[in-house]
Amino acid sequence: MAKIGFIGLGNMGGPMACNLVKAGHTVTVFDLSDDAMAHLAEQGASTASDVTQVCDGADYVISMLPAGKHVRAIYCGENGLINHLSTHTLVIDCSTIDAESAQFVGKALSDAGVSFVDAPVSGGVAGAAAGTLTFIVGGSQNDFDGANKVLPDMGKNIFHAGEIGAGQVAKICNNMLLSILMAGTSEALQMGIDHGLDPKVLSEIMLNSSGRNWTLELYNPCPDVLENAPSSNDYKPGFMVDLMAKDLGLAQQAAQQTNSATPMGALAKNLYNLMQNQGKGSEDFSAIFKLFSEK
Ligand code: NAD
Repeated sequence: MAKIGFIGLGNMGGPMACNLVKAGHTVTVFDLSDDAMAHLAEQGASTASDVTQVCDGADYVISMLPAGKHVRAIYCGENGLINHLSTHTLVIDCSTIDAESAQFVGKALSDAGVSFVDAPVSGGVAGAAAGTLTFIVGGSQNDFDGANKVLPDMGKNIFHAGEIGAGQVAKICNNMLLSILMAGTSEALQMGIDHGLDPKVLSEIMLNSSGRNWTLELYNPCPDVLENAPSSNDYKPGFMVDLMAKDLGLAQQAAQQTNSATPMGALAKNLYNLMQNQGKGSEDFSAIFKLFSEK
């Protein structure tokens, strides 16, 4: 069993850290939220009074933070962990951030003799709780092998996408597609409802037809089709609109770098920005359904 420091105990990081405790690792956690720390302490984790404490004797330091600026600041900012990590520690950043930030932090740590992989995840809050996340790892083969000793305690599928940053590129390709599917599923369901169809029946029909997709099956955006989906719980996240808008911004930046045409991704980004402007940034990303249903 390993000694693990874990930073960022939000919707995703909380249950991920819990699973590491359950697997028998010695876990020290840190978050800006006292409530999040108290919850993990109840599960058997030790709490750090200062973020640098998570480095003490750690085999792994794992972070699950909102965006690139948080990851850069934690590792490379003033009194960053770079000054406290030992060369024995493997850093695994699971946040979804821009590939440049992952490469910047990876290079800075590597110059200090510390190994780093980016390992963003897919599978949502349910996958984090169930320990069935997909991890998409960027880093050297050796560091991937090291990460692969602990990631299976939080996930089911562990992929090696390439060098540092490659995990992030694969992840934003996935999230761009996810947002397009969520928007398309929402407009199709609402058109059916407008024509008098029952959304449960329509969902069942499309699930057994060529429109089948993950959002329709496991994360249906229409309230009361799936009991456990955020749409049936007043769109409580889940995965926030603000985070999806961030990922779509990253996707557009990436597309610009390679002159890739991503018209559907650009449209999805605009729809999510519209939701932010309507004050829906903290709702679940499936609340895009309301753009079509609220008349
Ligand atoms: P969240 O906002 O629920 O959690 C982020 C946590 O980080 C919060 O608890 C916050 O207090 C903490 N934090 C922020 N700055 C900190 C600092 N300096 N030191 C310590 N703690 C700090 O977000 P989330 O939904 O858990 O998402 C985290 C990351 O995972 C994001 O990059 C997101 O894009 C990605 N992600 C989320 C989902 C999802 O379904 N929610 C799915 C896949 C990937």
